Amino acid sequence: MRKPIIAANWKMNKTLLEATSFIEQVKGEVLPKSKVDSVVCPPALFLAQLVELVKNSDLEISAQNMHFEESGAFTGEISPKALEDIGVKYVIIGHSERREMFNETDETVNKKVLAAFNYHLTPIVCVGETLQQYEKGETKRIVGSQVKMAFAGLTEQQVKQAIIAYEPIWAIGTGKSSTAKAANEVCGYIRRVVAEQFSKEAAESIRIQYGGSVKPENIKEFMSEPNIDGALVGGASLEAQSFLQLLEAGCNG
Ligand code: PEP
Repeated sequence: MRKPIIAANWKMNKTLLEATSFIEQVKGEVLPKSKVDSVVCPPALFLAQLVELVKNSDLEISAQNMHFEESGAFTGEISPKALEDIGVKYVIIGHSERREMFNETDETVNKKVLAAFNYHLTPIVCVGETLQQYEKGETKRIVGSQVKMAFAGLTEQQVKQAIIAYEPIWAIGTGKSSTAKAANEVCGYIRRVVAEQFSKEAAESIRIQYGGSVKPENIKEFMSEPNIDGALVGGASLEAQSFLQLLEAGCNG
């Protein structure tokens, strides 16, 4: 049985006060870690403080991005070593907004995934097709190749621990989500790609989230699908009550 994982991607939202107040409201109310991994991905500025705030709770903290080098002349970048050092557990890698606006490629995604494991961070690797690719029927080809490139050079053991977030780009922040059945089919295809690249066991162990306009009203549909193990949620994760509803509807329903 794969444990569900729900992650709140705050993107570039919230002040420090808003971030800490969210955590204070949520941390005593989330479901136990034995049942679901509940992860908050705040802006990098607040990571250290939020890691301290969630200690002894069932919440965990994820970075939204990092560099693949541990140190050096990379002005403005985030070191994976520093993330490990402050107690961050997860890192989102290759979000479509970073691929589209900050020139991330399958190669840099791969370097970052390898670096994440070197620093004991669990990568949440984002893959997904554009609207144009979706309309041309290229979803599986694109997503399959993104997965293969992201995982090149990993061990089977590492792949079993990684998280993939399948996020059709046309569904992110648009209010238009994929149907649960269609998302499940793509996630099933991702498992086949992982089985070919690594092993059947790796494909069965890896957790795959769906992302793209998930909200408390539709999360249950996605979570009921056999190949979907969780959700990466942007807009609907910004309010404490909505995040708690996502956990409740997604994992307790
Ligand atoms: C995301 O940021 O990864 C995302 C899926 O955003 P939204 O839920 O707002 O579509």
